[in-house]
Amino acid sequence: MGRFEIKAKEGLARLGSYTTNHGTVKTPLLMPVVHPGKSSIRPSALNEDFGFQMVITNSYIINSHDRFREKALNEGVHELLGFNGPIMTDSGTFQMYFHSLPEEEIDPLEIVRFQKSIRSDIGTILDVFSDPGVGKLKAEEDSHLSIERARLSVGEKGDMLLAGTIQGGVYPELREESAKAMAKMDFDIHPIGGVVPLMERYRYSDIVDITIAAKRYLPPNRPVHLFGCGHPMFFAQAALLGCDFFDSASYAKFADAGRMLFPTGTVHLKNLRELPCSCPICSANSIESLMALSEEERAIELMKHNLYVSAAEMRNVRQAISEGNLFELASMRARSHPTLIQAFRVMIKHIEEITKESPVSNTSAILYTGWESLNHPSIVGFQNRINERYPFRKTNNLILVPHLGDRPYSETAKQITNAVRRYKHDEVILVFVTPMGPVPWEYEHVHPAQQCVFPKELDSISLEIALNRLQTTLQQITFENAYWLSRETPTEVLQEYAVNIDAVCYSSVEDLLDSLPVMEPDDDRWWKRKIQGLFAYQWKIPADQLFMLKNLSAAFSRTTGKIRYIKSDDDILFTLVPTTGLLAPTISGAELLLRSGITDQYKVIMDNEAAEFVAKGKSALTKFVTHVHPELRSGEEVLIMNSENTLVGVGRSLLSSSEMQSLQRGVAVQTRHSLQ
Ligand SMILES: [Zn+2]
Repeated sequence: MGRFEIKAKEGLARLGSYTTNHGTVKTPLLMPVVHPGKSSIRPSALNEDFGFQMVITNSYIINSHDRFREKALNEGVHELLGFNGPIMTDSGTFQMYFHSLPEEEIDPLEIVRFQKSIRSDIGTILDVFSDPGVGKLKAEEDSHLSIERARLSVGEKGDMLLAGTIQGGVYPELREESAKAMAKMDFDIHPIGGVVPLMERYRYSDIVDITIAAKRYLPPNRPVHLFGCGHPMFFAQAALLGCDFFDSASYAKFADAGRMLFPTGTVHLKNLRELPCSCPICSANSIESLMALSEEERAIELMKHNLYVSAAEMRNVRQAISEGNLFELASMRARSHPTLIQAFRVMIKHIEEITKESPVSNTSAILYTGWESLNHPSIVGFQNRINERYPFRKTNNLILVPHLGDRPYSETAKQITNAVRRYKHDEVILVFVTPMGPVPWEYEHVHPAQQCVFPKELDSISLEIALNRLQTTLQQITFENAYWLSRETPTEVLQEYAVNIDAVCYSSVEDLLDSLPVMEPDDDRWWKRKIQGLFAYQWKIPADQLFMLKNLSAAFSRTTGKIRYIKSDDDILFTLVPTTGLLAPTISGAELLLRSGITDQYKVIMDNEAAEFVAKGKSALTKFVTHVHPELRSGEEVLIMNSENTLVGVGRSLLSSSEMQSLQRGVAVQTRHSLQ
């Protein structure tokens, strides 16, 4: 049964919801760890005062104390804790490891049955925890034993949701192997185990590598829980890696030691002269009033501060995913500690893989926070697509214009853009050289071409990345003559490269234009070139399918002069979406795409009965998708077909192919236009 629904994505992050027997929760979420007996803060207050949707407690502790066990067995774990929302239970894996308990202390099957009988919403198998220092052989042995126990445990789950923990120590290949095996079993959620000692030793880079390795093979319809990650400074980055659940024992552990958690790090109360926080505790207290309390009372106040701050950071993370700003939030948080920025750079090594899961089109601005910003999935995806799909590869005259890339190019480089509009692509190709990479003139409005904000002085690594990207793109364009227009932007320093390819350098637009052949003006030429570019970019339609453009006309915005619609007589075929710069077809436009031989990659096939609802304007739900191409990404403009391959609607894909096939809840394609 499907319980997970994805509503928005960025990188590997998912903004979603998860349905348990005690209600539906929003993800990513944080569960405070609650001790069944000696909770300093009432579990019900965790929800009422702090807004926590769910808590996690330890079934091993409940089972090993008579007074907890009896009450939990008779009245359920929700009564025992006094918490009405969903409760996850842990199995005692960490206690076994931490206290070096003997093997026979907990029976792996017994502990799963026990969790079921106390009516836990999500139980956890008893896996085997490997210390990061044990070496590969022992980590492999532990992981194999965990998989073996998982196999036995999964048959015991009944109607309880069960968490199958991924082990494998610090070895990505073992994590992959564990994930592949666990994915085949009937689990509902997958914790990534063995993380606590890595967190304690600031080994965030290892967490990045093992999380990406595990995610590669885990089914997208099951949330991933970064087990033991309770420090708010890592939430944003872990969410970007695709972690949906987090738990915190840290709020209490750090408070007991007089330490305060912040999204930017940890501070010891005794080192403070002021409370640098706006939570209710810090607002109502001073350092003096906190120091006047007994040690125990003070720890409770610090715990509350830690909870407020952790809850707020998780809200920040969810907000950032919905706005498409999580990459920026994570890169800012990474500035809090060198080990975090190292981890962020390790993540960038995996950026091609992450980009494939990130939506193709987005609308958010990308603000430079360092050279890492050039590896934003939206930028990497855009540059890849230019290299793979830009349809014009041969020209007499190649013009290179350095640009900051922050504003409409046709406004800041009006004269040259207007001049180039007169030419056919085999006469002139214009490429803007921006900090995030080269942008052919036809794509100046496609996100994120003009939504990136860079400083006027750029660091040398960014410039090196910009140069590499320029080289890669230009290697694919054959040209007779090259021209470089000198302008005051950070990419002007790349002129040296232009000289290497024998470009003639000009500092005046007029002089450059004088070198070009004289062309007969043609009002339709420029927008047809742009549309050809977009057809190739969005749907891989070759530029020689010119018959498509016959009898078409364009309507332009009176204020900006930009294309608004593409029409055939009075029938609108495509709308140019202003925020993404991409074409959205109408039904007539989709029919034209079908006639031009659009590939199956952009068709989502629905069950016939459900397709009738789409034809009436409803969105396409994942559970009725019967076939989808494995390379379809989220954020594409797609055609919705019934199982007889008849068009019923068009819309924007919200999920990737693998998600559409595995999720049972939620919308796969948001319908823009439908048949009726
Ligand atoms: Zn505070």
